Order: sequence, then structure tokens, then C-alpha cells
Amino acid sequence: MATSADPGANSTPSPAGDGDAPLRFERVAIIGIGLIGSSLARVLRRDNLAGHIAVCARSHATLDVARALGLADSTTTDPRQVVEGADLVMLCTPLGTYAAIAEAMGPGLRAGCIVSDVGSAKRCVIRDVSPYLADGIHLVPGHPIAGTEHSGPEAGFAELFRDRFCVLTPPPGTDAAAVARVAALWRQAGMAVEILDADHHDLVLAITSHLPHLIAYTIVGTATDLEDHLKAEVIKFSAGGFRDFTRIAASDPVMWRDVFLTNRDAVLEALGRFSEDLAALQRAIRWGEGDRLEDLFRRTREIRRGVIAVRQDRPETDKESGPPAG
Ligand code: NAP
Repeated sequence: MATSADPGANSTPSPAGDGDAPLRFERVAIIGIGLIGSSLARVLRRDNLAGHIAVCARSHATLDVARALGLADSTTTDPRQVVEGADLVMLCTPLGTYAAIAEAMGPGLRAGCIVSDVGSAKRCVIRDVSPYLADGIHLVPGHPIAGTEHSGPEAGFAELFRDRFCVLTPPPGTDAAAVARVAALWRQAGMAVEILDADHHDLVLAITSHLPHLIAYTIVGTATDLEDHLKAEVIKFSAGGFRDFTRIAASDPVMWRDVFLTNRDAVLEALGRFSEDLAALQRAIRWGEGDRLEDLFRRTREIRRGVIAVRQDRPETDKESGPPAG
């Protein structure tokens, strides 16, 4: 299903997709300068990949921080203004904002511009953004699968993306050079790039990321509703497993609200399968079917070994041990 975009090319500066020229953008517009947008800005600065970084956020307070951190050459709260003259526009806001931002910025986009994003669901990007893009603007949706539970420009760090996967979901017929430039950018950030169909991405991520977050929110929510004396004990003895769920359930509420609303079909499909499996486990426990339980727990160990084999767990290099990835 996946096609790797130039696998193994992530250690050296990548070509821009137009010959041997080093990857460089004249003017990058980053809309949303939180965890992901600011991490990308740090990569652009570190590797001198952009002549100018123009940043847009909702609040002046966020833009002040971005400037103080040296992540922005110019700032504005106006999506139309920020994209003017940009050859790359990167949407790094919650998914629910995309349609309104695309409508606002659409008329300001320069011919040949690449519009990409980092959102955690992908079909909705094509649905919400492409209606506002004129011919000759290249939409290359993307999802760097890397993250932490922290938000805002101060939470970002350039190493966030290193040794993780980035999935691109260009609609059929997308300009190959535009896809190559976005792929080169994420490889420069240290990522392995794969090309997937948007629906396939959404189903896979519903299982690997969205469902686990939903389960964490549910478990921690259950604890929140406990009587006070029981809640205090749960927090005190949280090292028994609950603690890991609290970290995931501390992820940004707006971002995750939008993930579940925009990836609704795939999440409901994953949730349906999960509910059936949970009911089967419940039954096994009720009827004392130890063999069934043990068999499942042995098989799940294999998945853990597979995750380690593809180097997707590396607590030693993360800011927090084992970050959640949107
Ligand atoms: P974040 O830290 O909360 O930052 C969001 C940024 O978007 C802020 O700068 C915010 O500005 C800005 N923003 C919000 N609404 C806006 C609007 N209407 N117009 C302009 N700017 C607006 O978020 P994040 O964690 O970086 O997530 C951003 C995107 O990355 C999401 O689509 C998410 O699905 C995706 N993603 C997240 C992770 C993760 O683990 N966090 C991983 C992979 C992908 P203000 O501060 O002024 O409100």
C-alpha cells in the first residue's frame, strides 16, 4: 500500500526535486506556530532552508513568543497576508480551522505555491482545503507522525521528527516535483517519508493513534468521576499503569476534538472492532477462559517486539518517555 519516497535518503541534505540544487524555499508561511509548527520552524532555521519565515497565529501573544524565539521573520494574524509571496505554505493548526483558513488565504496564494499541512487526519484536508485552491497551486497533505502532549511555540524542538515516519497523501495527479520538495523537507528533518492514500492513512492512524487516545481519555475520565477518596488512591498508586494513560490524556483538547470529528468514519470503524474484542475479553474473564487470555497476551507481545524492531520506541531521545503522536 505504502510507497516510500526515496527511502534511506534522510541523512544528507536532500535535493529539491528539481535537479541537484540544495533544498531551499524562498519564503515559507507557517500558519499555526505551536508544537509542530515551531518544531518545523526550528528545522528550517537550523538547516537554513528558508529565505524568510512568515508566521501566522490567532493571538499576538503567540506571535510575540515566536519572534522572541527567533522563529519568525515576520508575523501576522491574517492568513491571507502571511501567504503572500510564499512558495511553501504549511498549515499547522487544529484540523477544524482548515476550511476557514483556506478560504481566507486562497486568493493570496502565488502561482506554483505548494500548500502542505501536518494534520493528524488526511481525507478532511483534501475535502476542506482543495476547493479554495486555484489551478497551479499544489496541495500536498502530510502528517509527521511525531509529537508530545505539550502545546505552543515553546514546546517545539527540532529533534522531534528524527527517526519518525512522515506520511504524504497527495491526491492523484498532484505535481510530482511538489511532492518531491515536501518529501525532501521532511527527510531533512530526519523523517522517513511514505506516500499513502488518504483513506488508508486515516484508518491506520485511527488504530495506532486515535483509538489509543480515546481509550486514554476514557480511562482517565472514569477516574475523574470517582468519589474523592478513591480518586486520591488512584493518583497515589498511579504507577501501576494509569500514569501512562494520564500523560496521553493530557494532550491538547482542541486538537484531539478535531481529530475525532474530522476522522469520524475511520475512528468509528476502529472503535467498533475494539468494542467487539473488548466484549470477547470480558466474556473470557467471566467464564474463566485463561487459555484465551494467555493466547491474546502472547500475541500482543509480538506486536511490541515489532514496534521495537522498526525503532518506533526510543524513550532515551524524547523529551518525555514515549511521546504520544497525533
Ligand atoms: P498547538 O501546539 O496547540 O498549536 C496550534 C497553533 O495553531 C497555535 O499557534 C495557534 O495559535 C494556532 N491557531 C489555532 N487556530 C488558529 C487559527 N484559526 N488561525 C491561525 N492560527 C491558529 O498544536 P499542535 O500540537 O502543534 O498541532 C497542530 C497540528 O498538528 C494539528 O492539526 C494536529 O493534528 C497536528 N499534529 C499534532 C501532533 C501532536 O502530537 N501534537 C502530532 C502530529 C500532528 P494561538 O496560540 O494564537 O491560538
